[in-house]
Amino acid sequence: MTDTGVGERRADGVTNWAGNITYSAAEVALPGSVDALRELVAGSARVRVLGSGHSFNEIAEPGPGGVLLSLAGLPAEVDVDTAARAVRVGGGVRYAELARRVHAHGLALANMASLPHISVAGSVATGTHGSGVGNGPLSSSVRAVELVTAEGSIRTLTRGDEGFGGAVTSLGALGVVTALTLDLEPAYEVAQHVFTELPLAGLDEASFAAVMGAAYSVSLFTDWRAPGFRQVWLKRRTDQPPADVPWAAPATGKHHPVPGMPALNCTEQFGVPGPWHERLPHFRAEFTPSSGAELQSEYLLPREHALAALHALDAVRDAVAPVLQTCEVRTVAAEEQWLGPAYGRDSVAVHFTWIADTAAVLPSVRRVEAALEPFAPRPHWGKVFATPADVLRGRYPRLADFRALAGALDPAGKFTNAFVRGVLTG
Ligand SMILES: Cc1cc2nc3c(=O)[nH]c(=O)nc-3n(C[C@H](O)[C@H](O)[C@H](O)COP(=O)(O)OP(=O)(O)OC[C@H]3O[C@@H](n4cnc5c(N)ncnc54)[C@H](O)[C@@H]3O)c2cc1C
Repeated sequence: MTDTGVGERRADGVTNWAGNITYSAAEVALPGSVDALRELVAGSARVRVLGSGHSFNEIAEPGPGGVLLSLAGLPAEVDVDTAARAVRVGGGVRYAELARRVHAHGLALANMASLPHISVAGSVATGTHGSGVGNGPLSSSVRAVELVTAEGSIRTLTRGDEGFGGAVTSLGALGVVTALTLDLEPAYEVAQHVFTELPLAGLDEASFAAVMGAAYSVSLFTDWRAPGFRQVWLKRRTDQPPADVPWAAPATGKHHPVPGMPALNCTEQFGVPGPWHERLPHFRAEFTPSSGAELQSEYLLPREHALAALHALDAVRDAVAPVLQTCEVRTVAAEEQWLGPAYGRDSVAVHFTWIADTAAVLPSVRRVEAALEPFAPRPHWGKVFATPADVLRGRYPRLADFRALAGALDPAGKFTNAFVRGVLTG
């Protein structure tokens, strides 16, 4: 990483974390103050923000002559308001730092993604989520968004405002997010239990629902080399009843989601209680989760189709397994962000960590998409997908509202790149 921790700088340019995308901008612009940022935005024809670079596609690409901007040069603001149970967090801050500071006040976030190394603004911009039948994506904690808009002015959109439904999961298309205000709750402890070998054949709708609802946050992992799941991870809040998965066996050793990877990098298992932010992510903040030698794809579909979708994937597992490191199944509660992949649907999320070879992986991505097509899947905005833009547009009933909001805040399309144009207009 560069010394600012933004993007990888290699001989041939700035890349994302995985290294599969090299941005056209040779440099990352690092304004040192919000005023400098506003001036830079006002004076530039095209701007995209690079968060922590953990997306796997061209969503952050600024396009020819565009500015690739980072907020890593701004002070890392984390202002906790204990009375209001809220935190105002700067647009460049990552979850690890946020969680540590919030926990120090005896408060907590409702959920976290699999790793804490990702930026808050970049995560909610793409609909990033953790798991839990009652947990919405990370964007559902956002109370307010502060943006530097195209002409360099500051605009705040607060929950309840007209347009807020487009303001959080915005794909970076509305402006530069300089701060977010998030809901907090009293700190809680979580105990993580891992089970092994949950057969797909034995699962019916009731037992699948029971497994996914057995704890606050549940993940299933498989390599699709055989039907069924190699691991079941339960993250139980200790203020909720004990969890059990009678259909699988308790693990006898510590596990990493990718077979063969060191479990040392993973958060504590074996039911040892610990603070929420040291158990909800799969990976520990103080370790790099992996070398970045991977690509990822993920699809969210209505939860009532979960079992049928898993059987459809099982039917193509021979085409998928050779390029797969691991597949994770999670649940996400319905959300209200117009471009949120769980918009209006309690969802099951099926994630794929592939090998780091785009040409080898793309045919499997297409096989997965074909298998899931009957269930109207919505791809994760930050991951690899091949779904045509017109199909995607049909999956978002509030797309026209988002297009109108983007047109109002950014009439000249300063923050629109080829990725966003494809989504909005084809
Ligand atoms: C190892 C790994 C594990 C992951 N685990 C999960 C997981 O558990 N769940 C899940 O849902 N996803 C997961 N992801 C995906 C990841 O959360 C998303 O790709 C997320 O967008 C990453 O945030 P980022 O800041 O790194 O994004 P970037 O790629 O830097 O940016 C993403 C988008 O946000 C925009 N953006 C960033 N900051 C700002 C800002 N301040 N203002 C305006 N726009 C901004 C960018 O322009 C871009 O469009 C994982 C990714 C990796 C690499």
